Amino acid sequence: MCTACGACCSAPDIAALHKPLGVPCLHLGREQEGAGCLCAVYAQRPAICRSYQPDWVCGEVAPLPTLEARTRRFLEIYGLLEEAAGESAGPKSS
Ligand code: SF4
Ligand code: SF4
Repeated sequence: MCTACGACCSAPDIAALHKPLGVPCLHLGREQEGAGCLCAVYAQRPAICRSYQPDWVCGEVAPLPTLEARTRRFLEIYGLLEEAAGESAGPKSS
């Protein structure tokens, strides 16, 4: 069940939205009192968002207290923490 924790709108990269790993979607509303993290473009959200289904990962991430913690745990579960850290550090010079 989705509890609007926002992790799946923050952790994965979403090409259709040009959203990198580990960065909250620009359309993601932050936690509102009692409402969670809601999509500001819900009716127009892309197909990739429409097709996303809650799964066991939700149970792992949703109880965590902040969006940052939930995002981090989501990335950790998928083995993407290191890659996300590399992206946030920007391109490496060669
Ligand atoms: S990670 Fe799961 S509970 Fe959190 S917003 Fe996405 S579908 Fe909902
Ligand atoms: S468009 Fe909406 S549903 Fe899709 S990632 Fe952004 S906030 Fe989430």
